[in-house]
Amino acid sequence: MRIAFFDTKPYDKESFQAASSGKDITIKYFETKLNEDTVGLAKGFDAVCVFVNDTVNKEVIDRLCELGVGVVALRCAGFNNVDMKYAFGKVHVLRVPAYSPYAVAEHAMAMLLTSIRRIHKAYIRTKDFNFSLSGMTGFDLYGKTVGIIGTGKIGRVFIDICRGFGMKVLAYDKFPADGLADGENIKYVSTDELFANSDIISLHCPLNDETYHIIDENSIEKCKKGVVIINTSRGALVDAEALLNGIKSRQVGAACLDVYEEESELFFEDYSGHIVEDDTLARLISMPNVIVTSHQAFLTKEALSNIADTTISNLEGFFEKGQCPNELCYRGGTTNDCKDGKCF
Ligand code: NAD
Repeated sequence: MRIAFFDTKPYDKESFQAASSGKDITIKYFETKLNEDTVGLAKGFDAVCVFVNDTVNKEVIDRLCELGVGVVALRCAGFNNVDMKYAFGKVHVLRVPAYSPYAVAEHAMAMLLTSIRRIHKAYIRTKDFNFSLSGMTGFDLYGKTVGIIGTGKIGRVFIDICRGFGMKVLAYDKFPADGLADGENIKYVSTDELFANSDIISLHCPLNDETYHIIDENSIEKCKKGVVIINTSRGALVDAEALLNGIKSRQVGAACLDVYEEESELFFEDYSGHIVEDDTLARLISMPNVIVTSHQAFLTKEALSNIADTTISNLEGFFEKGQCPNELCYRGGTTNDCKDGKCF
């Protein structure tokens, strides 16, 4: 089996070499992202392996078909970068539905604590032997209300962590989880109720037509003054301009962003010597109460190893047994995991 691996980073190579060692698998690692300009590199391969900022749109899918590449193996959970409707019946799309919800949920809490206890400021101050505490006052998480949008794997781990801090939970999910609400400390509510009553809001839903800009001018207006917004899911869940305005007007007290709507050209790369053209991102980063990490929440040893193992086993299942339980398919207007391995 020959795999064209796009958007390669050194840590990917390490984990995929370990997962494919001793198997009849050849992986060619390309540093470039998959898109309309680079899809030709997939010629002669059985599958492409892609990550969150590779592009699998109509043009790329058509070209993959022309090249005889029938499989797109996502080494991530989200698939908003794949035109699933168009892919249906043309290429098989495999993904890694879960690799470590703990990695992402723990990162969300790390960002929250850093932000509200001003750890990012303290780190810089004490490096410079500035031991002043002015401007460093934080607040207790104990007794605060956290609003969780999306109570799937990551959202539920984040709820457990927040409950460990003695926080109350308001949750919203299009498909509420059975047995999660306890009527006292964890309650399912409408989005309006969640916005109006949460001190902190953390997003753990996928990006789709319904969740696009779920945090926008309108929803920010409905929030408690000083709300802290955490986004470790997908950038376009948040209207970045509206968030910036909310920060400027003090309606939003702080933002912790691991993802950004226009991240694909910037995140994962070193732009330290460049002039960044994106004024909204630059202004957000310049704010003392905004923390940005570059789509780093997944990046733990455990997650990398699980991603590589599941991706390789997805491909082995598909090519050797003709089916893969982690295949995605698009049916009746919705995208689902293919349960029977017979999507097309
Ligand atoms: P999941 O599928 O287990 O959970 C997603 C939840 O969102 C589900 O409960 C689902 O019912 C709910 N949902 C679907 N549509 C909704 C809607 N319209 N409104 C509200 N809720 C809705 O997924 P997960 O593993 O918990 O991952 C959540 C998200 O985290 C992923 O979609 C992905 O975008 C993101 N993610 C980010 C990183 C990172 O490194 N930053 C890593 C992994 C995943």
